[in-house]
Amino acid sequence: MNYRHIYHAGNFADVLKHAVLARLIIYMQGKDKAFRVLDTHAGIGLYDLSSEEAQKTGEWRDGIGRLLDGELPADIAALLAPYLDTVKALNPDGGVRLYPGSPKLARALFRPQDRLSAMELHPDDYETLHRLFDGDFQSRITHLDGWLALGAHVPPKEKRGIILVDPPFEKEGEYERLAEGLARAYRRFAGGTYCLWYPLKKGAPIADFHKALKELKIPKMLCAELSVRSDRETTGLTGSGLIVVNPPYTLKAELEKLLPFLKERLRQDRFASARSFWLAGETQLAS
Ligand code: SAM
Repeated sequence: MNYRHIYHAGNFADVLKHAVLARLIIYMQGKDKAFRVLDTHAGIGLYDLSSEEAQKTGEWRDGIGRLLDGELPADIAALLAPYLDTVKALNPDGGVRLYPGSPKLARALFRPQDRLSAMELHPDDYETLHRLFDGDFQSRITHLDGWLALGAHVPPKEKRGIILVDPPFEKEGEYERLAEGLARAYRRFAGGTYCLWYPLKKGAPIADFHKALKELKIPKMLCAELSVRSDRETTGLTGSGLIVVNPPYTLKAELEKLLPFLKERLRQDRFASARSFWLAGETQLAS
C-alpha cells in the first residue's frame, strides 16, 4: 500500500468528488429520517496542505486553491456552499491550510441523527483517522478492507445511505473491482445512493468500465466526468469521473451548471472537457 492521499488532497479530482458528495448529503437531508454515509476508502479525514507531502506536489493549488481564488457566480456559490463552507470553517483565518477528506466533510454536514461508517486499510492512516473521530458517537471508524465492507456493511441499519467508493487505483483491475463491488452491494441494498470514483488518464479502459456497469442492469446511473488537460503528453491523472447510482432527481441539473463552471475554473490547457450523462435510466443520452 504505497498510496497516500496527503499528496493529492484538495486536487481537481477531490474538488469534483467532494462537491458532489456534499450535494448528495444535502439532498438526503430533505427528509428528517436518519441516513448513513459508508466511506469504504476513507483516507485520514483531515489534510494539512502546508505539510511537506502536500507541498511537494502542490496539487491542491490547482484544485481547491483555484476554487477559493476569486468570485463565484451566485448559482454556483449556492451549489458549492455546503462543501466550501466546510472548508472555510476549518480555516477561520482565511486561506486553506486544512482540507477535509470525505469522512470529515460528511461528518461536518451531518445532523444529530446522521451516521458515518468509514473504512481505511492502511495501518497508519487508519490510526490517524481513528484519532480524528475519537469519542464521536455518530462515527464508526474501522480498520477493514473497504471491498469487504461493500458486502458486509450494507444495507445500513438506517436503510438510507450514501456509499462512497474511492479506491486508490494503485493496483491492476481496480475498474473491474469497482463494477463487481457495486454489483455485490447493490444486490443487498438496491435503494442506496452509490458514488464511485475513477481516474481518467491515457489508456484508461473507460468504455469497458461503462459497458460493465451497464451490464449490471441497474436502473439509474448517472455519470459525471471532468478532464482538466490533454492526456497526450502525460501518463498521469488528467481528469476524474464519478458514477452515481440512484442519484437525487436534482443532480443532473446541478451537474449541468457545476461541470462547465469547474471545467473553466480548473482547466490546465485548452483540451479541458466535462460531460454528464445517464449511463442507465432517464434518457441515456450524452449532454
Ligand atoms: N475518500 C478519501 C477522500 O475523499 O478524502 C480519499 C481516499 S484515497 C483516494 C484512498 C484510500 O484508500 C487511501 O487512504 C488508502 O490507504 C485506502 N485504501 C487502499 N486500499 C484499501 C482497501 N482495500 N480498503 C480500505 N481502504 C483502502
